[in-house]
Amino acid sequence: MTSTDFYPAKKLTTFYPPQRTLMGPGPSDTHPRVLTALARPTLGHLDPVFTDMMEELKSLLRYAFQTKNLMTFPVSGPGSVGMEMCFVNMITPGDKVIVCRNGVFGSRMLENVERCGGVAVVVENKWGEPVDPQKVEDALKQNPDTRIVAFVHAETSTGALSDAKTLCEIAHLHNCLTIVDTVTSLGGSPLKVDEWKIDAIYSGSQKCLSCPPGLSPVSFSERVIDLVKSRKVKVQSWFMDLNLLLGYWGDTRTYHHTAPTNALYGLHEALVMLYEEGLEHAWARHQRNHKALKAGLETLGTKYLVDEKYRLPQLNSVYVPDGIDEKEVRLKLLAEYNLEIGAGLGDFAGKIWRFGLMGYSSKIENVMLCLNALETVFAHMSKKVDIGVAEAAAHRVYEANPLSAVPKKA
Ligand SMILES: *Cc1c(COP(=O)(O)O)cnc(C)c1O
Repeated sequence: MTSTDFYPAKKLTTFYPPQRTLMGPGPSDTHPRVLTALARPTLGHLDPVFTDMMEELKSLLRYAFQTKNLMTFPVSGPGSVGMEMCFVNMITPGDKVIVCRNGVFGSRMLENVERCGGVAVVVENKWGEPVDPQKVEDALKQNPDTRIVAFVHAETSTGALSDAKTLCEIAHLHNCLTIVDTVTSLGGSPLKVDEWKIDAIYSGSQKCLSCPPGLSPVSFSERVIDLVKSRKVKVQSWFMDLNLLLGYWGDTRTYHHTAPTNALYGLHEALVMLYEEGLEHAWARHQRNHKALKAGLETLGTKYLVDEKYRLPQLNSVYVPDGIDEKEVRLKLLAEYNLEIGAGLGDFAGKIWRFGLMGYSSKIENVMLCLNALETVFAHMSKKVDIGVAEAAAHRVYEANPLSAVPKKA
């Protein structure tokens, strides 16, 4: 045996990914400023220059989440790790937890509760609809020993937005803590952690923050920190134990794990951009591009899955028109236009598309590319389409809704 016996079968060289336009359920396009930040020199994770940057990152995240929570930081790992972190720290075996389910991510929360030894009470809602506060209230009345209420703010599998403020109010009236998934809402839809009194929240870097996947911003209220500090049973996960992480992200800066330094520069840059743009402006931008895409999509005979009142601007789920092969369209968009859109999940597989307009992907160029590409692909599939009509409809929306009407902050 020589070392070359272990060579891979084909000759390998540098990987150059194609330049795609990402309009699926995430990841979204990474902003060039963020890509540049990722390429800066690596620092040690305890270097004072780096730890100063960490402090800025924490305060930028507090702005994004609209919270004064001291324990606000990015977890090293994707959104799923942020999710797991909330559940492992807050549940001790035997705790009763209400999990609201109106799509894929509610099911993941349920998995987490069960794996932590919690007793789950599931509040089922129809996919495509928001979580019904009345159902949560009823479940709490029937289960007065419930400790935690968990729900997804922006359900990416369907594009439905739930009323986080009302759900938190109800949970608190029944003395429960709340865990809220805002992976798709942070940066794209109004979200106010302190005003809505959210106790534990997690998000992701790759949806409306224009950053690559791999980091999960989280924030915990004092009530959660007190709960975790007073646990009698150790948190079952060493890596995710908040008691230990408080050391690294808190004042003492004790080594816990090697933080992904370059990835954190990227998030820092993405959050600086959000701060420069202003949250309200970012929310308005997502709305405006959604309205334009919607106007165009409707000329193509597509109908939205979610009722207008609960529709997420950053995730547009529409039914595939009759006589169109949904998969063929997706493959053509990718192969011919370098454009990625999302397929349906669960019962909606083969029936809907999901168009993401998240973060840096939420811009006029993407809306126009997508509408133009769809028209052309539909026309090739012998559906009668008047090329240009969808873009014209989108343009009318842009003209009627100038974004400059929203005051810019910085
Ligand atoms: C994407 C997503 C997640 C999971 O995030 P990952 O980074 O893929 O682990 C969780 N919840 C919601 C609502 C999401 O959209």
